[in-house]
Amino acid sequence: MLVKSAKFIASYGQQTEMPDDKNLEIAFIGRSNVGKSSLINMLCGRKDLAKISGKPGKTQSINRFLINETWMLVDLPGYGYAQVSKTKRELFSGMIAYYLMERKQLAIVCILIDGRIPPQKIDLDFIHWCGTSNVPFALVFTKTEKMKKTELALLPENYMAALHQVGFDEYPEMITTSAVKGIGKEDLLNYFGEIVLNK
Ligand code: GDP
Repeated sequence: MLVKSAKFIASYGQQTEMPDDKNLEIAFIGRSNVGKSSLINMLCGRKDLAKISGKPGKTQSINRFLINETWMLVDLPGYGYAQVSKTKRELFSGMIAYYLMERKQLAIVCILIDGRIPPQKIDLDFIHWCGTSNVPFALVFTKTEKMKKTELALLPENYMAALHQVGFDEYPEMITTSAVKGIGKEDLLNYFGEIVLNK
């Protein structure tokens, strides 16, 4: 798939504010600073579609972008920064959980993970939550341009082993990217193309 057009539609403070339109949605999520804005900009061939911010956890809204007039790219707030409620430190906001569990239009959520570091508990917890909540997901590794071939080859295995440990026996799609070098653009867009075609 080629991205011919990408338009910012709106920001929503709650899933319930989102219109019940027909377009299929592909969502992006990850820890703040994982490179989500950069990846969205890279995929859409734009410098400034998604804001690249130096302030972790600042955006707490859901942003929707209409791609090729046919599907919506949904930019979800980052998870995992110290979001302390009265009784516990929450992994992610209720808004995210509600969107992921209730949104009929959602086809898949891409969980962005920094490929350069070993599997982190916070990401594994989120993946586990998606698995147990029946939220379809793919793993998208970011910032991989400086990784050695051997390290890259081990990434899926490492995650499969980590997921196996928390009870998974089926493994998600895994795609390697770098926004800096444009790596994985075609793979990811082709993957999305199939999802949109088969909806
Ligand atoms: P977000 O908070 O997840 O939206 O992340 P950003 O896109 O704002 O990026 C966070 C930081 O990671 C910035 O300093 C980016 O320049 C850097 N970054 C983003 N993508 C890449 C990448 O592909 N490779 C490397 N090395 N750094 C990246």
